[in-house]
Amino acid sequence: MAVKSVWQYYVSSSDVLMLLEVFRRMVNDSLRIGLVNSVSSLKKLSLLSYNQLAHYDSPSYYKLCAISRAAGILAARKKSIRRGFTTRTPYSFRQQLVSCYGFKIENGYLHIPVSRGKRFSIPLTKHTLKIILQPGVKVRSFTLTTSRLSLCIARDAPLLQCNSTVGVDRNLRNLTFGNDNQTYRYDLSESVRITSTTTRIIASFRRDDDRIRTRISSKYGGRRTARTDHLLHNATKTIVAFAIQGRTAIVLENIEDIRSLYRKGNGQGRKYRGRMNGWSFGKAQRQIEYKARWIGLPIVRLSRRETGGSSVTCPRCGERLQSDKRLGRKLWCSKCRVVMDRDRVAAVNLSRRGRVRFARSRPPILLEAQGGAVEAVKGNPTPTVIPGVDAPKLVYRRNQQNHDVTVRGLVETGSALSQDRIDVSFPCIELGGVLGIVLVELV
Ligand SMILES: [Zn+2]
Repeated sequence: MAVKSVWQYYVSSSDVLMLLEVFRRMVNDSLRIGLVNSVSSLKKLSLLSYNQLAHYDSPSYYKLCAISRAAGILAARKKSIRRGFTTRTPYSFRQQLVSCYGFKIENGYLHIPVSRGKRFSIPLTKHTLKIILQPGVKVRSFTLTTSRLSLCIARDAPLLQCNSTVGVDRNLRNLTFGNDNQTYRYDLSESVRITSTTTRIIASFRRDDDRIRTRISSKYGGRRTARTDHLLHNATKTIVAFAIQGRTAIVLENIEDIRSLYRKGNGQGRKYRGRMNGWSFGKAQRQIEYKARWIGLPIVRLSRRETGGSSVTCPRCGERLQSDKRLGRKLWCSKCRVVMDRDRVAAVNLSRRGRVRFARSRPPILLEAQGGAVEAVKGNPTPTVIPGVDAPKLVYRRNQQNHDVTVRGLVETGSALSQDRIDVSFPCIELGGVLGIVLVELV
């Protein structure tokens, strides 16, 4: 199930504003109850707080939604505490209403109940209607703020069959994607420039009033995000479109712990650290993932171990590449005696490592999985079919002629797997100690 949202502006009425305020108070009440009883699960929280919300004059499903929102906030807080982050006492200031019940979409309008027997109708824009009326799209919930309406939409996209992969290398100043055949680079240096301009503007504020400074900085911060997000959305859209065109699964690297490279005390300048830590690499990943899922394109997420060294390994011979100040972002392979671009090298390596996951026991790819050197795969096409990768369910393929069932899916080595319809013990094949690929055939 792929999920996305579509939003538009709307004009609120006094009834709606009142409802938003009531909802905010209900969320805060549930938060308070949850904190006092140190409860964060939805079930426990609703048992504790549903009766306490009885005095609010609002349709009862908004009460459930308020509790659910509070439970979400409390669960996120619990997670932060477990990870050792400092948290503030949660309190909702923003007026926001989230609900998955009670709304109706009819004749281009969204109808929602605001109080007993009273409904409010919001005309949907052409853009919103165009998206929600696409075949297979269902509206799951709506979110109201004082001026915006956002609809959460879902779609069951059939999974596309891919026969190749494309690696995506995320960098501060560009997104590079490609495979052995071709690589492309999407320039993002404009977003670095926008970020640095914003930093300079905010640093220039001299007024000695914290409240005003916070407000103006947040205004500029919002402007920066709007501008850089636009660039990033264009980039990720291009990548996904490219992948669909070539029927290639997208391979993403794991660079979760990259922030630890830019900590205080690592001997880097403040500006450099600020720039690197302001880099939204996770946002790029999230955008690529949801856009691909919406179309039904498989995504391969490499582990940290599989990612390691992807930008400094020669894709031709497997040798470690040499860097040089004079070469900049170019790297030198002393064995092949060629200069290569490190971003393109990374994209090619990532696409191969992703493909390795789905390779059957074909000799050249097995070698690659064990870290051995392989000739460039160009002119050596892989007929590997890539089923849904990070999809929670296994992919069934039924062969009509032989009446045998092939179950293919990726599991962690040694982990137990139970499936309702098929119940077998899975033999695991180790590939270079990195992956466990399960291949079961029931005849
Ligand atoms: Zn080489």
